[in-house]
Amino acid sequence: TNWGRSDSKTGDGMRFWLCPDCGRHLDRDPSNPQHASAIQKWRENHTRLCSGEPVPLVLAYQFHTDCIVLNVPSRQDTRTIGRTTLSPTTVTLAEALLAGAGDLLELEPYELAAFPRLSPEGQTVEEIVIYETVPGGAGYVEEIARRLPEIAEAARERLYGHTCAKACYLCLKHYRNQRWHPFFDKERVRDLLLTISKMESVEPIEATGGSAIKFLYDQLDQRRCELQEEGRPPGHQNVQSPIEKRLFEALCGIADLPSPMAQYEYRKDGRLITIPDFAYPDAKIAVFCDGFAFHGNPDTLELDAKKRNQMQSDGWIVLTYWGKTIMRDAEACAREILSLYKQRVEESR
Ligand SMILES: [Zn+2]
Ligand SMILES: [Zn+2]
Repeated sequence: TNWGRSDSKTGDGMRFWLCPDCGRHLDRDPSNPQHASAIQKWRENHTRLCSGEPVPLVLAYQFHTDCIVLNVPSRQDTRTIGRTTLSPTTVTLAEALLAGAGDLLELEPYELAAFPRLSPEGQTVEEIVIYETVPGGAGYVEEIARRLPEIAEAARERLYGHTCAKACYLCLKHYRNQRWHPFFDKERVRDLLLTISKMESVEPIEATGGSAIKFLYDQLDQRRCELQEEGRPPGHQNVQSPIEKRLFEALCGIADLPSPMAQYEYRKDGRLITIPDFAYPDAKIAVFCDGFAFHGNPDTLELDAKKRNQMQSDGWIVLTYWGKTIMRDAEACAREILSLYKQRVEESR
């Protein structure tokens, strides 16, 4: 939809004054007395040609195409910049995947587009809708669904192959996504992109709308049950789990990286805020293992997200890896932590 110019005070779209009979456009605001004489002239001209009366309209068009709906556990980091309210994590992830898909599938930048939205079921899951801009669709989104791990890997190369503060024209920005520029922050999606890149490829199945969210919740439930069986209920911090052990060993296997501090107590004004599984306080990097198991659970999601956001607003980079990702490729997680560590130490010099 196109709502016309924004009102400078309210930000509301001022719509287009169009004659529904002949389509002529009255390009002045009829509520503005300064334009009265120009409008009078327009009307006189128009009445000579047409008996219609201009009305305020929103321009819109509708088309059918293929789309992919990705469900992402919410990080509850929604913020308002100007007149837009969005989650920097979700918006950055959406654009990163678009960029990765564009690189991998060699698409023209206008062939795919995306938008984020809060899931209708509430705020524990957010959605990214990726769609083809060509009516009817050309089969790209099917390929994206099939090759999502590769696309996330392509996005990682695109985002982290160079140094920039939050986003630049080499990675995420282009002129068509200008309204999202203030929200972009590539450090917020490092762990998510790595997690997606290490996922198994999916087999296509028949499904109905909303079944992906259900599948995500089932997986999170299953992981919570496994944790309980392991004798490590969610949030329990004092026992080193097999997953933590695996990552710790991978981290210690890297010669250039100092040993991380395990069970680092992050305090603010003397108050204990949270205990990351591993931390590099000199580089302000915190790592949570298996954090996704707790996310998506409405009881802890908000609390977890709040702690995470608090660390981030203090300049920390917070990485959360799914247990599965660590068990499959702890070395990849460790390598990512190393490259981030080097970058952070260099920056602070
Ligand atoms: Zn007319
Ligand atoms: Zn960049």
